[in-house]
Amino acid sequence: MANTSQNIFIAKKQKLRCSNCGNSIPIEHAFVAESEDSKGTCFACSPFVNYTLLPPGNVALTRRSKKHSELCEVLFAWNQRRKRYERKGQYVERTAIIKAEEECAADEATRAIKNEKAAVIRAAKDQAYILEFGAAIRAYYPNCPAQREYEIAKHTCEKYSGRVGRSARAKQFDTKMIDLAVVAHIRHTETNYDSQFGKGKGKKEIRSDLSSSIKRIINSWK
Ligand SMILES: [Zn+2]
Repeated sequence: MANTSQNIFIAKKQKLRCSNCGNSIPIEHAFVAESEDSKGTCFACSPFVNYTLLPPGNVALTRRSKKHSELCEVLFAWNQRRKRYERKGQYVERTAIIKAEEECAADEATRAIKNEKAAVIRAAKDQAYILEFGAAIRAYYPNCPAQREYEIAKHTCEKYSGRVGRSARAKQFDTKMIDLAVVAHIRHTETNYDSQFGKGKGKKEIRSDLSSSIKRIINSWK
């Protein structure tokens, strides 16, 4: 199993030098080191010179080829717009990739069923969340129009899909969360908020113009 602290960077810093052969490493070339500020080597002097780059995207293949390769290092490239390094794949032994591909082919059907099951569970959890959050909304806004609580809850559920704190049972719905969801819903469905844009007014101004009518509706729902 691969275990080293090296990484491979597409060099963005000038004046990087290989600590083994002494050659300078041009920008955009691979630099093998713990960080781009550490001492490191050029790719030709690194143990990865005969390795193969496996592009990212296939979780099972990535995990399995790492397991079968003596060494495994991630290739990073700097994304200037996002100001962060991004993974561009990993270097592993060619034989490790072949082994991993064989394993993936062998249990592809099983993994597909597993993913399908996970999707069904997720949908059931979403449904439970919508029912519970809807009930919480109804408790705070007993006069809100029929079925509207579920519409609001469904929207919130979609908005936060996949994020933490979504589990219905783990989380008590606090009143602030409920109020925010209800206000947003009223703004979009009970006022002309959405058609106000592009007429010279800013978001802040549009919102403050509508605040009294939103308050009126909120009070009538309570
Ligand atoms: Zn070198």
